[in-house]
Amino acid sequence: MTATIIDGKLLAEKWKEKLKNYVAEEKIVPAISVIMVGNDSASQVYVRNKLMACERVGIVCKLHTFPEDIEEKDLLRLLYDLNSDDKINGILVQMPLPPHIDAAKVTDAIDPDKDIDGFHSYNLGRLYAGRPHLISCTPMGIVHLIKSVADIAGKNAVVIGRSLIVGRPVAAMLVNENATVTIAHSKTVNLPEVASNADILVSATGRAGIVTAEYVKKGAVVIDVGITRGKDGKLTGDVAFDEVKSVAGAITPVPGGVGPMTIAMLMYNAVKACLLQNGKKMTI
Ligand code: NDP
Repeated sequence: MTATIIDGKLLAEKWKEKLKNYVAEEKIVPAISVIMVGNDSASQVYVRNKLMACERVGIVCKLHTFPEDIEEKDLLRLLYDLNSDDKINGILVQMPLPPHIDAAKVTDAIDPDKDIDGFHSYNLGRLYAGRPHLISCTPMGIVHLIKSVADIAGKNAVVIGRSLIVGRPVAAMLVNENATVTIAHSKTVNLPEVASNADILVSATGRAGIVTAEYVKKGAVVIDVGITRGKDGKLTGDVAFDEVKSVAGAITPVPGGVGPMTIAMLMYNAVKACLLQNGKKMTI
């Protein structure tokens, strides 16, 4: 058996096209601010991809760049200004931030209605309460990728990783979709056995290749969130792709799986935020 390869790039393109048409139909021009501190090379690539996606969908994107040594209070002041700027619908601070800046404080300084990354405690709480507002982009992308090949309700899902940006919110989304969910992490005992109960296995650890065939139930949907950049610049996921694809029913590649969908969902949130701020509802 060889697994279906879930084409995240194609699905992301479809979403961007759909959003572009929707923005035109609604006669809106969403505008977002992207803030980048320092010159981390991976962050620069992510930001460039986000700017290109904005252009494709018809979203105005203002980039604010700052040197590594910007003071936390100056960053917070900018956020307060952007929160009260009616012309800006969405705000994103590219992570990681330098260690002298408290990332959680920065995240929670963004107006939850403009929090297009969905990282604010309010938005996480709404997701856990089963009344989502703006949902973080990677988990939203993951759920679309799963739905492109399988139903979620009633399935056993195992999420490896419990971060606030991937593991926990994707687990909450899967619960909201009526899956039975286990969250595993570095202290989980006998992880291969736990993982191999999953009909849907999501791995978000950043440990290249840890998910081998023994972790995977025959026919399972395997979503690989991990990104590890090798010395040669090549990206590797958490999943040992070649051996797992002969056991899984469907699998996302790295690159070309979760990454492109994360950006498409950022565009979704930017459009949604703009509509909400104009007293309208997102209907796609
Ligand atoms: P974090 O480092 O914040 O969290 C990693 C999680 O994995 C932790 O909960 C940790 O457990 C768990 N973990 C680490 N090692 C193991 C192990 N050997 N066995 C079981 N669990 C383990 O990472 P993020 O959640 O921020 O990101 C995870 C990965 O996803 C990274 O590679 C990141 O680059 C990628 N990513 C990709 C995105 C995309 O768009 N494709 C978007 C966001 C992230 P514990 O809590 O016990 O320490």
